[in-house]
Amino acid sequence: MAFDYDLFVIGGGSGGVRAARIAASEHGARVGLAEEYRMGGTCVIRGCVPKKLMVFASGFPGSVADAQAYGWDAQIGGFDWSAFRFKLDAELTRLEGIYRANLERAGVTILDCRATVAGPHEVRLGDGREISARHILIATGGRPVVPEKWQGKGVMTSNDVFLMDRLPKSILIVGGGYIASEFACIFNGLGVQTTQFYRGAQILRGFDEEARGHIAGEMMQNGVDLHLGTDVLEMEGRDGTTWVKATTGHDASYEAVMFATGRKPATEGLGLEALGLDLKPNGAIPVDRYSQTAVPSIYAVGDVTDRANLTPVAIREGHAFADTVFGGTPRFFDHGLIPTAIFTQPEYGTVGLTEEEARAQGPVDVYCAAFRPMHSLFAGRDNRAMMKLIVCRSSDKVLGCHIVADHAGEMIQLAGVAISMGATKAAFDQTLAVHPTVAEELVTMRVATRSHSD
Ligand code: NDP
Repeated sequence: MAFDYDLFVIGGGSGGVRAARIAASEHGARVGLAEEYRMGGTCVIRGCVPKKLMVFASGFPGSVADAQAYGWDAQIGGFDWSAFRFKLDAELTRLEGIYRANLERAGVTILDCRATVAGPHEVRLGDGREISARHILIATGGRPVVPEKWQGKGVMTSNDVFLMDRLPKSILIVGGGYIASEFACIFNGLGVQTTQFYRGAQILRGFDEEARGHIAGEMMQNGVDLHLGTDVLEMEGRDGTTWVKATTGHDASYEAVMFATGRKPATEGLGLEALGLDLKPNGAIPVDRYSQTAVPSIYAVGDVTDRANLTPVAIREGHAFADTVFGGTPRFFDHGLIPTAIFTQPEYGTVGLTEEEARAQGPVDVYCAAFRPMHSLFAGRDNRAMMKLIVCRSSDKVLGCHIVADHAGEMIQLAGVAISMGATKAAFDQTLAVHPTVAEELVTMRVATRSHSD
């Protein structure tokens, strides 16, 4: 049977674009790609990229305060949100254009519409047209989830932040994950009175406990009003603000309320159930390690599979899929060791096991240092950095590295290379310190802070 395309990709985000581009340009496949919104997906349009630019914007008041402490006659005025948003929109449009141009250069046909799956080899476009493809790749990503009780109450999600007309004077952020904690720091840095509610005992569940506690302490010291063990009990609009009563009895009004209570794979209405694909309870598409679904002609990559919901992971999954299916080189992305950063203030960079995970696997030694870095110490700030290595007692391999410090994202990228190569603690110790830096602490911690033999 002659198909219209060798590959049809649904979703123009990080995973879908990489797969389409590699399949077309490196393996000569005839590729079509449908995107219903803006090319670039969550990462470029309403995630990593605009978020990081807001992180940069939110850092300037602190930098100016430090400049004063270093002797500069520096002053900072007000923040012009409209001017920032205008530039942000222009930058996202520029990036979207690059994504589009790269796809076109690779020979991919772009269809600016919604597409759903109509059969193992059939795709239905928004205008009702049906097209056929030998393989279909679903890369539709995820969407923020607001608990049902609070839907329709005028609360924001991370999708809305970049579209705000003005910056609120006060905000309540609900949630304790990556997104909630990053935006709490961003708004706080921009001078918005920021409150964060997290229902559990400590934010950033799943990460290293010591690092979580360190970050929460720093965030509070920097001005985030963090309420642990706290959830929203009641909420209503009052005089142009939102009045919120917490489960702890605390009540206050906020100009804006943002829910960052998780994300859900975007599979609704895609037509997958009709094909007999059993989705996971949260809507994720089950796939094998080659990203193939139970329908052999249909694959899925990125957040829609809910494996590790990160841009670089989706890119690797999309690339491996293209090489496997169109390049004749079966390969898959190993999700075992993923360096990642959380852009809180201070940043958190992490790779490998947490102390809790490592000690469950066998005896480990933990090397940890918390200290006041030179830069902020001189500025009179009491902020502390944290460096931590978790080392396997029997092999001496570094199983996990956790950094809470300015630029921790940059540092963990490099520590990630060493740890991916199986570096031992002895190799860290042999490496000469770069002085004076914060990162030198990683190669100068000689005595274990504690040991776990259980
Ligand atoms: P997460 O799943 O990380 O966090 C969701 C948070 O909301 C948790 O604290 C959770 O609490 C809480 N929560 C869930 N349901 C409710 C509820 N009904 N009421 C109150 N609180 C609730 O999701 P995020 O949205 O923060 O991030 C999604 C994903 O996006 C991340 O996992 C990450 O992969 C990716 N991401 C990556 C970034 C980066 O690389 N820097 C940045 C931003 C996002 P509990 O812990 O108790 O379940």
